[in-house]
Amino acid sequence: MPIINNRLTQEQYEANFADIHPPFENKTAAQLEASRCLFCYDAPCTKSCPTHIDVPKFIKQIATENIKGSAKTIFSSNIMGAGCSKVCPVEKLCEGSCVFNLLNEPPIPIAKLQRYSTEIAMKENWKLFEHRKAPLGVGVKKVAVVGAGPAGLSCAHLLSREGIDVTIYEKESKGGGLMTYGIAAYKVTPQFCEDEVNYIISLGGIEIKYNQELGKDISLAQLKKEYDAVYLGIGVGVARQLDIPGEKLEGVVDAIKFIYDIRANGYSSVPVGDKVAVIGMGMTAIDAATQAKRLGAKEVTMLYRRTEAEMSCTKHELDIAMLDGCEIIWLAAPKKIKGSAGKVKQLVCSKMKLGEPDASGRRSPVDTGETFSLDVDMVIKAAGQVPFENLVKKSRLDNKNGKIVINDNCATNIKGVFAGGDAVNGGKEVVDAVQAGKDGAAAILKYITRKDAK
Ligand code: SF4
Repeated sequence: MPIINNRLTQEQYEANFADIHPPFENKTAAQLEASRCLFCYDAPCTKSCPTHIDVPKFIKQIATENIKGSAKTIFSSNIMGAGCSKVCPVEKLCEGSCVFNLLNEPPIPIAKLQRYSTEIAMKENWKLFEHRKAPLGVGVKKVAVVGAGPAGLSCAHLLSREGIDVTIYEKESKGGGLMTYGIAAYKVTPQFCEDEVNYIISLGGIEIKYNQELGKDISLAQLKKEYDAVYLGIGVGVARQLDIPGEKLEGVVDAIKFIYDIRANGYSSVPVGDKVAVIGMGMTAIDAATQAKRLGAKEVTMLYRRTEAEMSCTKHELDIAMLDGCEIIWLAAPKKIKGSAGKVKQLVCSKMKLGEPDASGRRSPVDTGETFSLDVDMVIKAAGQVPFENLVKKSRLDNKNGKIVINDNCATNIKGVFAGGDAVNGGKEVVDAVQAGKDGAAAILKYITRKDAK
């Protein structure tokens, strides 16, 4: 049972990784769907969007052929509105709240409509925002943003609109963060991610310095000295270890690294096994499992220590995995990975049952003492990510197990240093990080104004 790359032809890779949510075929199709919207005055769809996009307004603008206005409505609330239209779990956010669900009718396809306007805006390179030239009437201010992911880009964009000069320090060679490196390639292509970053910074006033890692190429002390404020949108990145025997065997890989390699190096370069086990049932686990299958794995089995009722991915995501032919085993926790000649051969699992609710409110898994084994040649670990604890501690930032602690004004314990997104909350959706970036920008603007008033 080998782990090999290049299992499929180029045509097969292209077909397997084609856009999972195709756009409207034409303008009429988009307008027909837009005209179904009831334009609810208390719009539950808007309330359930973490960035509070005015959904009925942008849909009305599509219905009346004001596509530019529609794109501006979306981007004013969510500068990553194009990417979010492809990766947001809309079934538990806007579309899940649409009143049509109560009428037992299909909800308005909000994401597809959002994609419709934002893709046209990007394609036409519409300049919908500008870098204000006379900032606050108090001279040019400079802010450093660490991380060109959704939180950092959103923060930088809002600051630039207010006349602040922003420099983003990004440790990778491309921007977009999780959107570029951590999401299945059939949801957003690397080219789309690059285009989206370029479109966001096209308003001016934002420079991205790539291959600049905090704690290695740059230090927080240095940034503090050179800028009026610093925003940390460093995300999370280190995969949680399983802490079981056999974890170091060849064939055990981190889901984040697996997904990253597909995005960064291309489909044919990434090795995959014949029989793959994926540990976890979050969005990352689903993205890893479905992509392992689409890379040519013969069998993919997902294992989760709780049940479907407690999983963190959405039902829609689970359906994608099942339609791709992934097997699911509920109430199973990895106990040991057995190998031969240093390579993975078998995964031994504990059978679990549900006990009392834990701190997360979900019923906790309890070991029954029974075990079972699966013959596998690859194990992908997707049991969550942990924050950059060493970096955070070395930077003397107050933290909770590596998650940066901030106050109501997005401020850390270090004066002039703000933070948000996954680095603070431990990992949520892209759309949550976008909102965190907006909140951070608003707090920084207040801080800079007050500082100047002194
Ligand atoms: Fe339109 Fe549905 Fe939102 Fe009402 S809830 S405004 S019908 S998208």
